[in-house]
Amino acid sequence: MSDFDFDLFVIGAGSGGVRASRVAASHGARVAVAEEYKVGGTCVIRGCVPKKLLVYGAHFAEDLKDARRFGWDVPETTFDWPTLRDNVIGEVARLEGLYQQTLDNNKVTTFHERATIAGPHEVRLASGKTVTAKYILIATGAWPQVPDVPGAEHGITSNEVFHLEKMPKRVAIFGGGYIANEFAGIFHEFSCQVTLILRGDQILRGYDEQIRDRLLQISMTKGIQFRFNAPLERIEKQEDGTLKLFVKGSDPIETDLVLFATGRNPKIDGLGLENAGVTVEKGAIKVDEYNRTNVESIYAVGDVTNRVQLTPVAIREGHAFADTVFGNNPRTIDYAAIPSAVFSNPPIGAVGMTEGEARNKLGSVKVYTSDFRPMKFTLAGRNERSLYKLVCNGDTGQVVGIHMISPDAPEILQAAAIAVKAGLTKADFDATVALHPSMAEELVLMR
Ligand code: NDP
Repeated sequence: MSDFDFDLFVIGAGSGGVRASRVAASHGARVAVAEEYKVGGTCVIRGCVPKKLLVYGAHFAEDLKDARRFGWDVPETTFDWPTLRDNVIGEVARLEGLYQQTLDNNKVTTFHERATIAGPHEVRLASGKTVTAKYILIATGAWPQVPDVPGAEHGITSNEVFHLEKMPKRVAIFGGGYIANEFAGIFHEFSCQVTLILRGDQILRGYDEQIRDRLLQISMTKGIQFRFNAPLERIEKQEDGTLKLFVKGSDPIETDLVLFATGRNPKIDGLGLENAGVTVEKGAIKVDEYNRTNVESIYAVGDVTNRVQLTPVAIREGHAFADTVFGNNPRTIDYAAIPSAVFSNPPIGAVGMTEGEARNKLGSVKVYTSDFRPMKFTLAGRNERSLYKLVCNGDTGQVVGIHMISPDAPEILQAAAIAVKAGLTKADFDATVALHPSMAEELVLMR
């Protein structure tokens, strides 16, 4: 019999924590997990899932308009935010239940309370109880960071945005990354007047420049406003409840809602890391390629390690950890060519090197592009162009990056990412017969 209460204690029941718990239990480990909020974590409860449902909900605004050009008699439409909000909240609750069921079915003990580290093998629960475990896995995720300026408390973050009481008339979004561009699209389709305010001069840093430019151009054409090089100085609440934003180098901006989308920091505050001597580097828990911290019995996966802040990566890390420690199968993660998407309107899908990265790394680079108007838009009379881009090694023809902005780009990109991961060449793409008529066929028709 082990001297410990559990073989594994997981702190945080998000994507990484739940996967690690389930797999470790399937390898025969006695597992406990603590979650202070809701089982499912950021992705399920206040991230990817509810966001994607809002993206679907928002897109009806354009679909209903376009439907008339396709012969449908669409009477005047209205949008009821509380209906969508409550349906999304209901769906999230259903998924939360399924996640809990997964834990229960695998005989994982769930503590619905906060847990902190008390020592290399010891966890303290909010109720005061101390639990011991042979191994501890930290999977607490990340938390929105908010600029430290006067009046910042008047703004909300992605944590609160799914619960708005009513749809505001005007929204100011700080930041120019994933969340900012996704919610710009969502709010705009719900008829809000949207202003994106950025401290710098570019959106979606890290994505291919041409693709970013296209999103910017389309967003501006739709009516979304941008203020660049405008760091926030303060927010003042007016007597009528509206907000006045003071930003550097620009007139004050009046708005009804401020959304901070200025990045997410690993959630380590008050976690008791010092009680076990866990090393933190640049605000994140430092781990090796097997997800192990400097303390032999403590591991960490997902956003709290700030390697790649994406759900499927956290899931892989959690799975690899459980196989390594409990499945007698040491595994590391291959971080090369991870596909990603921005669910803006239109969405972006990308995998591999941008053109700029390829030029820096490879020297000889050949780029192919297809700039087209989707067939659906021609009939709808929608003057919005899509852009696909293949970045190839100029010497070998290997496709090292694919970048797309178009309706359904993320759906198409997932399959195309297999080709990049497999190291296929432009000749392999050319040898594949086009699937007509589709947008995806552009990928094999670039000359
Ligand atoms: P991002 O890292 O995508 O973008 C952060 C933005 O905020 C950047 O424009 C950045 O500007 C700006 N910024 C950072 N700090 C400050 C500051 N102190 N003051 C003003 N502006 C600031 O973060 P998000 O919050 O949008 O998303 C968090 C993470 O969640 C993402 O990195 C991503 O990993 C994940 N996510 C993934 C999604 C997906 O896969 N579709 C969707 C949503 C989130 P600058 O460029 O100048 O640094």
